[in-house]
Amino acid sequence: GQRVVIVGAGMAGVQTAVALREQGWTGEILLLGAEPHQPYDRPPLSKAVLLGKAEGSAFDVDFAALGIGLRLGVPVTGLDTDGRTVETGSGPVPYDVLVIATGAEPVALPGSEGVPGVHLLRTLDDAERLRPVLAAQQEIVVVGAGWIGAEFATAAREAGCTVTVVEAADRPLAGALPAEVAAHMTGWYADYGATLVTGARVTALDRHGLQLGDGTRLRAGAVVVGIGARPATGWLAGSGVELAEDRSILADEGLRTSAHDVYAVGDCASFPSARYGTRLLVHHWDNALQGPRTVAANVVGSRTAHFPGQVYDPVPYFWSEQFGRFVQYAGHHSDADELVWRGDPDGAAWSVCWLRDGALVALLAVGRPRDLAQGRKLIERGARLDRTRATDPSVPLKSA
Ligand code: FAD
Repeated sequence: GQRVVIVGAGMAGVQTAVALREQGWTGEILLLGAEPHQPYDRPPLSKAVLLGKAEGSAFDVDFAALGIGLRLGVPVTGLDTDGRTVETGSGPVPYDVLVIATGAEPVALPGSEGVPGVHLLRTLDDAERLRPVLAAQQEIVVVGAGWIGAEFATAAREAGCTVTVVEAADRPLAGALPAEVAAHMTGWYADYGATLVTGARVTALDRHGLQLGDGTRLRAGAVVVGIGARPATGWLAGSGVELAEDRSILADEGLRTSAHDVYAVGDCASFPSARYGTRLLVHHWDNALQGPRTVAANVVGSRTAHFPGQVYDPVPYFWSEQFGRFVQYAGHHSDADELVWRGDPDGAAWSVCWLRDGALVALLAVGRPRDLAQGRKLIERGARLDRTRATDPSVPLKSA
């Protein structure tokens, strides 16, 4: 029989293994993961797990019953596509089909490595190190007002910590949202008792705190860095698997890589989107749920005659829980798209629609999950939006 090896036992790797069985793969499946822990879900790490409201977030998957081999604590260090093996500390592992699902690794603040009291937040180990910091109600400085920074600041405030967030840009979520939208999120920090300092660069850092470009010194019992994540693809150097400039694996529309019988999915891979006319690198949970279904279909199909191949062209979706608000986003927008407001952005619940040539391409919903659900369907259909109705939050979103 044939063997599928999956490298990376996070959401995308585990979902690929499960989807392969669901779609009728009868050969061997072997899942290799660098972390020693039973495979787990990441979103709770900046929420319930951090606050000690949940012990862990292990996936509810019976690997043995599904006939999925699991080798944990095994970092894969290399790939030989000619010999069809991956390299591990305990020797080479042969594959017939390889799925790369190594996710992303957080970007470290230059000069912060090895400094005591400086944390990242990506793994269960990170969250477990941060739990006592929160429980001790230490003074905390968060570097970066992105999704992770905002969620961590929220949890730290809920735990009773003093929280200062420093951000290099002039607003939160600068990489994700336009200034006129993010402007309405700036006040969320103060509402929750956190201090947000924008336009601030960290110039020095030690165990007692950090210094900003303007000379300000901030004392901190702990510093949490959330300045982004990069595809974990360093181990592929020299393998012949093609990478993009952003270090993502260059997958095609069926999530195949440049190497034969090698696929890539989740946070480590980018793919061409016909829907949006651009290559997408998505670092969100839903992509690690949907992508694996396409990979499994193409792996199973590639072993049958005349299989046309399944195309992956999703409407990206994610959510974030921050400062007592439920924030959701579907689609993909560019600066050129037209903004349509729905409700008062300084109120408790509102949405923003992005239109391109009259069609809905993206939607951000704050405390309006209905808008998100309706909008997501309209985006999927490429529907034109009735703009006048759209601005009225009391009527459902509907196509023109
Ligand atoms: P990962 O989850 O990173 O899994 C990859 C796995 O591969 C890791 O376990 C890693 O150890 C392993 N690995 C890496 N290199 C190797 C190697 N060489 N050999 C073997 N194994 C290797 N998304 C949302 O949409 N909403 C949220 O609210 C949200 N909250 C989040 C909160 C936190 C704290 C974090 C970190 C992420 C959050 N995300 C959220 C993003 C979401 O969790 C990721 O998009 C998702 O985990 C991606 O899954 P993945 O399997 O591609 O990558």
